[in-house]
Amino acid sequence: MNPLENINEYFSRLVTTPSEIVIAAHHNPDGDTIGASLALYHFLKAHRHHVEVLVPNDPPAFLQWMPGSDAIVVYQSDSVKGNQLLARADIVFCVDFNACSRVKFFSEQLLASQATKILIDHHPHPENEFDISLSVVEVSSTSELVFSLLESSGFAGSVTREIAECLFVGIMTDTGSFSYSCNRPETFRIAAKLIEAGVDVEKVHRLVYDTYSESRMRLLGLCLGDRLKVLPEFSTAYIWLTRDDLQNFNYQPGDTEGVVNYALSIRNISLAALFIERDDRVRISLRSKGNFSVNELARNHFKGGGHKNAAGADSFDSMDVTLARFEELLIHYKKELILNLTTYY
Ligand code: MN
Repeated sequence: MNPLENINEYFSRLVTTPSEIVIAAHHNPDGDTIGASLALYHFLKAHRHHVEVLVPNDPPAFLQWMPGSDAIVVYQSDSVKGNQLLARADIVFCVDFNACSRVKFFSEQLLASQATKILIDHHPHPENEFDISLSVVEVSSTSELVFSLLESSGFAGSVTREIAECLFVGIMTDTGSFSYSCNRPETFRIAAKLIEAGVDVEKVHRLVYDTYSESRMRLLGLCLGDRLKVLPEFSTAYIWLTRDDLQNFNYQPGDTEGVVNYALSIRNISLAALFIERDDRVRISLRSKGNFSVNELARNHFKGGGHKNAAGADSFDSMDVTLARFEELLIHYKKELILNLTTYY
């Protein structure tokens, strides 16, 4: 059964009935949540809705060129407006997250909202907090799913260059420039249609990826030079950063984006982790290759979650205790990790 069929008719009706719409993106917004949200924003605005995109905290600088980005309402800096928008909304699209808690600063207001909540997402295990759910785990990204929704509801002709650019950013960033979560031909068919709609792939790639500050590049140098620990017996590599490191390198949001992937790109490494010391917690980013599920690891041991090959979690222990706990965990997963090696080369 095609999950889109359930929603197509409802969505077409929604599009033709002008309403107050809020599009909610997740905390620490990434290219997919912003790309899919802004694409919906442009599309719904063109269909005469009153639309606002609401994000919990600031999107990273490398996304701020995106069309419509200056219209985004950041809850952390304007909660009064955020609350007003949520209170008067008829419809809230919940984009690229599977639980209201993922919008962090306005999760209570979102849960309490009388608006019809429509989930569009690709994370496993969505909560039962939404009135309508379009949750498809197989797709590369929520942006891909938004394109499929527009196309299958008869709106392919409404995909402007702006919309296409936003969706392309979402697919490109959620697949690491088409290197993971992209084994379905459909992902590439949709990417091709976005290019036909006017996306300049090379320009978009430059705008998103060739944006390092000198201090970000040098922070990466520290990560790879001094802070990378490789544990070949567990097919694992991890990187850790302290609060002082971040300060010394003038850390800006987004500066550690992608760092964990360097650990994962070492030969014969199945599991990679990045630990970053924050105010009251250690933020953990987990990545894996093949069948080893970091989603399960994060859920079972750190109350986190995400996807099979990319997940996140928080630890409220110190960095030392967190790293020790992680290394101890590896002992239990040793067999699985080593066996996993044979599944992906
Ligand atoms: Mn996503």
